[in-house]
Amino acid sequence: MVGGLNNSYEGSVGVFMNGGIEGTLSRLRMSSIPVKDIANQAWCEKQMELYHIYGMKLTKPMQAGSAIHEDRQKIAYVKLAVEPVTYPDRLYKTAYENYMGIKNLGEKGICREFKVYGSINGFKVAGQIDELRLSGGNLVIVEDKTLRRGGSPSSRLKSDRIQVMLYKKLVDDTSAGLYTYENFSYAYRIEGMELSESFRKGLEELGITPGILRLNAIYKRMFEELSRLPKASSALELRYFERENGRQISSIDVEYDKAYIEAELAHSMAYWSNMREAEPVPESEKWKCDICTFFKDKCRVWYRG
Ligand code: SF4
Repeated sequence: MVGGLNNSYEGSVGVFMNGGIEGTLSRLRMSSIPVKDIANQAWCEKQMELYHIYGMKLTKPMQAGSAIHEDRQKIAYVKLAVEPVTYPDRLYKTAYENYMGIKNLGEKGICREFKVYGSINGFKVAGQIDELRLSGGNLVIVEDKTLRRGGSPSSRLKSDRIQVMLYKKLVDDTSAGLYTYENFSYAYRIEGMELSESFRKGLEELGITPGILRLNAIYKRMFEELSRLPKASSALELRYFERENGRQISSIDVEYDKAYIEAELAHSMAYWSNMREAEPVPESEKWKCDICTFFKDKCRVWYRG
């Protein structure tokens, strides 16, 4: 119960498991925490959890937003032209595309859809940075968002700020050697994983050098390249695009605030560590319920029908 609210929802799985670090993750059938989920906790933690329990219905605005992202992806994204078959293949694809992205960054000063990994309070955390840019010798992290026509970024600014600051934290941890290939390899158990025969054959046909044809080799190379990148700037950027036509509406500069992100992460991790239930929005933000797909049906916290 949160502050005496009706904190129940249909098909409730809000029963606490036996604690332990994997409690919430295993209850939600997850193996790692996406950066986006940590950001979404700041919008409505309960909604984020319900998405995992009941799945996310792709609404028309969400589809329009994805189309804009896909369009922007074409600006500077090096896609591996071999289709993965197995989980190790998919891991390989990610590392290879990141590796090529770093090369692109060196040559053209930009790369997109860059996957980052890290560890927070012992949890695996992963995310995808929309854009990395080199500017004045620094690495600039940019996150793109879409809004409906006439929309304002102000209502979602808190979660967007958390997302982009968390990306910087993960990049910094890798650059500082706090999260290395060894950490990744242990967390994802990649040593000994084999690529499927057809995928490996496809890589050979592309002419990928034998030195990076194995999963552990491509990740070692990726982490080596990552450690050579310039320091990530504290000046982060949020860009907002109109969902209907992809036109850029605004750009907001966000200054990295270590104390702020650490405090937000402490609150967020208390949920993932199974120390508390998912919190609904406070009364002052119950307007969010009007645009929530779970309102009335799966979540009746603020329903007064
Ligand atoms: S209905 Fe409101 S409180 Fe419930 S999940 Fe949706 S936004 Fe959160």
